[in-house]
Amino acid sequence: MAKQVSPGVLALRKVVEDVYREAREAKERGELVGWSSSKFPCELANAFGLHVVYPENQAAGIAANRYGELLCQAAEDLGYDNDICGYARISLAYAAGKRAARKFDPETGEYIIDPSTGKPMKDADGKAVIDEATGKPKKDPKTQTPYMVLDDLNEIMALPDGVEKERRLAAISPIRQMQMPMPDFVLCCNNICNCMTKWYENIARMHNIPLVMIDIPYNNTVEVDDTYVAYIRGQFDKAIKQLEEISGRKFDEKKFEEACANANRTAKAWLKVCDYLQYKPAPYSGFDLFNHMADVVTARGKVEAAEAFEQLAVDLEETIKKGETTTPFPEKYRVMFEGIPCWPKLPALFKPLKEHGVNVTAVVYAPAFGFVYNNMDEMVRAYCKAPNSVCIEQGVDWREGICRDNKVDGVLVHYNRSCKPWSGYMAEMQRRFTNDLGVPCAGFDGDQADPRNFNAAQYETRVQGLVEAMEANQKAKEA
Ligand code: SF4
Repeated sequence: MAKQVSPGVLALRKVVEDVYREAREAKERGELVGWSSSKFPCELANAFGLHVVYPENQAAGIAANRYGELLCQAAEDLGYDNDICGYARISLAYAAGKRAARKFDPETGEYIIDPSTGKPMKDADGKAVIDEATGKPKKDPKTQTPYMVLDDLNEIMALPDGVEKERRLAAISPIRQMQMPMPDFVLCCNNICNCMTKWYENIARMHNIPLVMIDIPYNNTVEVDDTYVAYIRGQFDKAIKQLEEISGRKFDEKKFEEACANANRTAKAWLKVCDYLQYKPAPYSGFDLFNHMADVVTARGKVEAAEAFEQLAVDLEETIKKGETTTPFPEKYRVMFEGIPCWPKLPALFKPLKEHGVNVTAVVYAPAFGFVYNNMDEMVRAYCKAPNSVCIEQGVDWREGICRDNKVDGVLVHYNRSCKPWSGYMAEMQRRFTNDLGVPCAGFDGDQADPRNFNAAQYETRVQGLVEAMEANQKAKEA
């Protein structure tokens, strides 16, 4: 039976699809489209009614669709170092015109199927059908996909009109992330990290387009100093002037207030959704939260997103009342998953957790997008509180609070090769969690976008070690 999708999830999917579709249509009409970092104050662009899309979400989607390596390698071939964040490499390759395209046979024009893809065929009893010739499970042809190769949009567009040009354009992967319109301006806020600054500067230079930059200094203290607020508010004023020049429109105070109201409604509903992970058993898995990250980033200033998240909260309340969960296994252990998931390897991440009954009931990455504020100064302070821009004391405090509230038995830390600012202080955090919470921690090496940096065998061993430690902890408590 097909998995039931709740009304809230369906509404959120539509919200994101609409943002990307409207941006594509706007571009075709000759209107401006911007690219924005995920924690740039979207309320500013919303005040001008500008179309904006989000390269980080795009890169995560490209990685989850297994094109991450192709695009990361393309960026490296353009001269970008392999040590640069995978999202940045994917985005820079895309900005340079690189595209993942289906491989076709030039004689027949047919796409060439990659035999390693597809799901195993099942018989009427649900058992895998074995191919007599190879002795291996047969693949369901309906689920098989073509080989993916790299193509270049600039080269394609330089071709004379004709069959070759049409075929190559049609071969570009149809996923929305591979059809994102090119930027006319970029909006960058480095509350995420400083890699972002160089990434966006490069795009601005590559396309010769304006860059609107909000510089948020790293916070060495838990409180945000008033001088920071004044410095950032000054930049908001400059950004508004720049956006007036870019759009040719005056700043619309009413639209700005509406966007702020919507963003707050979205943030409150999103935090409510995140908090449902406190229930035991949790009504869903932290992996479901990761899937909604794109929604909160892409559309948090839109009323449709606020309504969809409120609907999702209602759906989850119902799920809790019925004592149900979307996690497809009984919850034996609860863990915090630290960091960004390895998008190209989600099934490999999930498999050992499922085998051992480990549910992810706490994540830091998701609630970090819950910006709630009542006025402009509070808005500035809210945007200062991103995971990579706060001091270690604040970071530990957030995580330990979530671990306690969500009742975790252990912590699984992703040492993400892409995200150095995040991974750099994790060893010290791990030490503090173990000390303060008395829960075991296990770390594994991986990457959010580049599958070359993940090793399934190492991950499985680390999960196994964590499970053994959690089991020993539980036995000691019982004794
Ligand atoms: S915060 Fe980490 S993952 Fe995000 S852009 Fe920066 S380096 Fe990459």
